[in-house]
Amino acid sequence: MSFRSGRHFLHIPGPSNVPDRILRAIDRPTIDHRGPEFAELVLGVLPGLRELIGTSGPVFLFAASGSGAQEAALVNTLSAGDTILVIHNGFFATVWQDTARKLGLNVEILDLPWETGVDSNRVAERLSQDAEGEIKAVLVVHNETSSGVTNNVHDVRLVLDQLRHPALLLVDTVSSLGSIPVEHEKWGVDVTVSSSQKGMMLPPGLAIQAVSSRALAAADSATLPRAYWDWKSHLDSNETGFFPSTPATNLIYGLGEAITMFREEGLEQVYRRHEHLAEATRAAVRGWGLEVFCQSSQHYSPVLTAVTLPEGFDSDVIRDLILDRFDLSLGTGLGKLKGRVFRIGHLGSLNALMLAGALCGIEMGLQLAGVPIHTEGVQAALKVLRSRFELVEE
Ligand code: PLP
Repeated sequence: MSFRSGRHFLHIPGPSNVPDRILRAIDRPTIDHRGPEFAELVLGVLPGLRELIGTSGPVFLFAASGSGAQEAALVNTLSAGDTILVIHNGFFATVWQDTARKLGLNVEILDLPWETGVDSNRVAERLSQDAEGEIKAVLVVHNETSSGVTNNVHDVRLVLDQLRHPALLLVDTVSSLGSIPVEHEKWGVDVTVSSSQKGMMLPPGLAIQAVSSRALAAADSATLPRAYWDWKSHLDSNETGFFPSTPATNLIYGLGEAITMFREEGLEQVYRRHEHLAEATRAAVRGWGLEVFCQSSQHYSPVLTAVTLPEGFDSDVIRDLILDRFDLSLGTGLGKLKGRVFRIGHLGSLNALMLAGALCGIEMGLQLAGVPIHTEGVQAALKVLRSRFELVEE
């Protein structure tokens, strides 16, 4: 690869751009993970993480990616042959259901359109047929990173409550935590799974979980084999600031810094900033005369926008061209969206000018690739980006 000056523009929907402050926080000598300094670090970080996830209960950190957190949620709460219902409206639901199948669970899929958020009536329809309570857990992805659709998790809980259905509610917040409000307790979630490399602004390597008392009770009778992922061994050690095995010490330094940054900016502002950058991105897409893949405005993702290309254009060819010419990475189309969409990540440590730069690169790349666009996307996005400052001045 030829020499590239300046910074790479990382606009995949995670891993996201790691801010310098977090890099500096991680860049320290690794300390004894069984010593007092480490315990102090952990005991300082966990309350902030609980606050972010909206729980007063236990949160667990494993050295793993988001897939590890997905697996841990299953092996701690379920037994071989248990039936689970996967609410499926995107590729990352497929990833989770594949893991469940490999573990010996009986996976039932509620197949829903990818272009919109989960229709809770469809969930109610299926669960109301399960009078015997055969379904032991319902799985849903909060923010579908494949499609740019954000699902309403609380609606799923309301369905379970209305039907008095006893299934556990397991929720993937891998690409929402730190970018979109997550309310583990208010939404009545039993296991929230997440990871470090997206809204949390950290490098990959930390799997995050929050668990309800019902999930902990389920762990007492669940018989799927588990060793590394066993919550119980974490519960006791975490109390005193320790872990049963070697944790990702330096990432925990980074996590502490990320929590400090969230507090300095204010969580409400963090979420508003994501909404605003997403709105500007959608304005750009429409200005180009292209289509936002998500078709329902109430489910637009604040984290990423998937853009549908006209027939005859391969999104991976265009992504390669944009990477080559402008040193800008965009997300590929996943699963059935392969080649059809590209995904613009607008999450984590990001501001108006960083997004504007990325949108300029995309506009130029689309033109170079011969996609028939209007060159009004960047202008439309700038108008939205500027509007925030007009409001501040008033
Ligand atoms: N769930 C969602 C919503 C994701 O976006 C991802 C990854 O992008 C995963 C699960 C899998 O996580 P990982 O790749 O960190 O294992």
